[in-house]
Amino acid sequence: MLSYRHAFHAGNHADVLKHAVQALILESLKKKEKPFIVLDTHAGGGLYDLRGEWAQKKAEFADGIGRLWDEQARWSSIDPYLAIVRAMNDDGTLTYYPGSPELSRRLTRAQDKVVLMELHNNEVESLRGNMQGDERVTVHHRDGFEGLVALLPPTPRRGLVLVDPPYELKEDYFRVVETLKKAQKRWATGIYTIWYPILGREADRSRDMLSAIAKAGLGDVLVAELEVAGQTPDWGMNGSGMVIVSPPWLLDKQIEAFLKPLCAKLAQGPGAQYRVEWLSRREAQ
Ligand code: SAM
Repeated sequence: MLSYRHAFHAGNHADVLKHAVQALILESLKKKEKPFIVLDTHAGGGLYDLRGEWAQKKAEFADGIGRLWDEQARWSSIDPYLAIVRAMNDDGTLTYYPGSPELSRRLTRAQDKVVLMELHNNEVESLRGNMQGDERVTVHHRDGFEGLVALLPPTPRRGLVLVDPPYELKEDYFRVVETLKKAQKRWATGIYTIWYPILGREADRSRDMLSAIAKAGLGDVLVAELEVAGQTPDWGMNGSGMVIVSPPWLLDKQIEAFLKPLCAKLAQGPGAQYRVEWLSRREAQ
């Protein structure tokens, strides 16, 4: 039984990191005219109304996108992401927030494709409703780990995979690693991103997952983390990270450029910190 609903968390500090990185990668794929594909294994509802009851419950967006909204000129380093949030809120009031599907839809071109997978019955209905009318987008109601491997290698052969499980099932940590290995065997040239939480109580699961990814022989693997406060046993998710397999050239520098000021801006307590490091590097040929 799946209980996670992303609307509670839409636009929080973890979404800012994840979606800023996603947008930078999509922009770099657009530097070539050749078409590309985005495969999103855990798509969620597609986009979110921040006035909704769930988004308002803890108003997590207020300490994420909400802190950037009024000073966007300062954040040119992540403007591909912020430009989409702006475009969805053209009256100047922050009301709608893009999930990864809406970001992909808006940051791709006529020649590109977007494939979205979502397992939750209600969430997939919202997703279908939010994506309808765009013929470049396909929605699959299926397990994203299995679905990804089944759909590889994709046509076109350039592109990005987004893996963003809720980790409410502990097996998600293990399935991420196994799926990555299988997927890269089928499609070695794809870019893969994996989002993960940094949780006070369960930080070791993420650390173990990172160790397994580092040893998996996946070539160039970058990791970027943002913790908005130090870990304490009673704090839920104090931070999150993104693993990027085969990142576009200079993505590490682009992330470094925004993560330091972002960490200062989104800090919620002592111990806020960030890091951008290589987990592994491709062996020289
Ligand atoms: N990627 C989305 C974004 O950035 O806007 C948020 C996704 S949310 C963190 C995780 C989603 O995965 C939830 O909507 C949940 O229903 C869905 N989910 C959970 N297990 C799944 C699975 N095995 N396959 C596909 N979707 C799954």
